[in-house]
Amino acid sequence: MSATNSHVIIVVGAGPAGMAAASSLAKAGHEVIILNRDIKFGGLAEYGIFPAKLKLRGGLKKQYWELLQQPNVHYFGNVSIGKGKDLTVEDVRALGASAVVFAIGAQGTKAIGVEGDSAQGVFHAKDVVYHFNRLPGFGDRPFEMGNHVAIIGAGDVMVDIAHWLTRYKKVERVTAIVRRGPAERKYNPKEIRAVCSNMDVDGITNEVARIKDRLAAVGQNADEILKALTDEFVKCEPKVSDTKMGFKFLASPKRILVDGNNRVRGLEMEDNKLEPKGSDTAAVGLKQYYEFPCDAVVFAVGDKVDETVGLPYKSGLFVTNPNKTTNDPDDALFQAFDEATGKVVDGVFLTGWARKASDGLVGIAKRDGDWCAEVVTRYLSSSAPHSHTGAKVVLDKLAMALKNHKSHPVDAKGLRSLESIEHKHQGATDCIGEFKYASNREMIDLIEKGKS
Ligand SMILES: Cc1cc2nc3c(=O)[nH]c(=O)nc-3n(C[C@H](O)[C@H](O)[C@H](O)COP(=O)(O)OP(=O)(O)OC[C@H]3O[C@@H](n4cnc5c(N)ncnc54)[C@H](O)[C@@H]3O)c2cc1C
Repeated sequence: MSATNSHVIIVVGAGPAGMAAASSLAKAGHEVIILNRDIKFGGLAEYGIFPAKLKLRGGLKKQYWELLQQPNVHYFGNVSIGKGKDLTVEDVRALGASAVVFAIGAQGTKAIGVEGDSAQGVFHAKDVVYHFNRLPGFGDRPFEMGNHVAIIGAGDVMVDIAHWLTRYKKVERVTAIVRRGPAERKYNPKEIRAVCSNMDVDGITNEVARIKDRLAAVGQNADEILKALTDEFVKCEPKVSDTKMGFKFLASPKRILVDGNNRVRGLEMEDNKLEPKGSDTAAVGLKQYYEFPCDAVVFAVGDKVDETVGLPYKSGLFVTNPNKTTNDPDDALFQAFDEATGKVVDGVFLTGWARKASDGLVGIAKRDGDWCAEVVTRYLSSSAPHSHTGAKVVLDKLAMALKNHKSHPVDAKGLRSLESIEHKHQGATDCIGEFKYASNREMIDLIEKGKS
């Protein structure tokens, strides 16, 4: 693309969606400025995906490094966007780029709002995942799990947390609490291999027998379902602890039970039945309650976006344009939309989990980023281009704004020197098999030292 057709585009967030959008836009010849909250790029690929998945994580890291080496890509880690952060959404828009893509993931946590959920020993899955992936601010915080941990949820994140609890924390027991039945489990059968050598198969058999009649009421055969569930316990990773893992089905937590020190001692649970709902089922409470003893509770029930950022927000999501657009009707899905004015927020786009919280794996986020880049390209074709001088102007304005705010941005060069220092520490890895720093300060000091 010639310089005259080149635009300056700011991508906020360097997770799989942001990096995909940045890559497509950079390939098209635009100048791309990436602003990222974390010093390191990767988002959940760095701080979410289970640490042992070295091949997936390593492959993504390689791709992202290739992107940052492009001369038309400018990376600024340790720059948070939001109210009271390094820059506000309006500050970013005022830098003069032709478009701003928000790929900031879904940083909020969905609570199911049960009484007592502020007790000690209640955790949100994302915080636990950030902890075992050593995101600064989480890595060094104590996550005391006790002996028996209840994880609310039946998806892949529940399995990842169970994996950490069995493999590294080696707790006595992990129970996945599932609102519906075993047929409605949501995790990928391949993922369960990480924990299936710890499955308490007798306990699971008894649990399925306990709910047999309620399954039969919606035409589900308990024996067949038990077989399907346990047949997935193949190619299990070797057992490294005596942790027993089980399930509690047709169960909804209603209240966290605490001791005199406001520490979790159990859950008040309601028994559910299943009712048909179209081709699916729904859980319906039976108003029969019982106590379920446990020492910690982890909510793995999905994420919502961070409503404090300053983008139009409603019911856990950033608001996108509800009206079809003229270019391509689906472009609207990526446009930020202000319901107060009834107008699209001009030049502001959303992608990845920032657009659809908790929506799928890295491949889906990447595809969403690519698609967003196409939408931005169509938008740009109808607006006046910036020249490369434009890029310099935007970068100078950005540098000034960050300086005024006393921010400490980290560029690709800084990241490289951090990485080489990290490699020297490989002997000092912790359970995740990778050396990581506990704080941003520690990383910035090392980068500064490397410069002198
Ligand atoms: C526990 C867990 C395990 C997973 N395991 C797998 C797996 O094994 N395989 C797989 O394929 N997928 C897995 N996924 C899914 C995968 O991680 C997501 O699909 C993907 O990371 C979503 O990409 P994203 O770019 O939209 O958001 P994110 O990855 O969340 O990236 C968001 C980026 O935005 C930045 N950011 C956030 N807020 C701000 C702000 N205010 N200002 C500036 N920057 C900001 C963050 O620093 C981050 O870099 C897992 C997800 C979770 C939660």
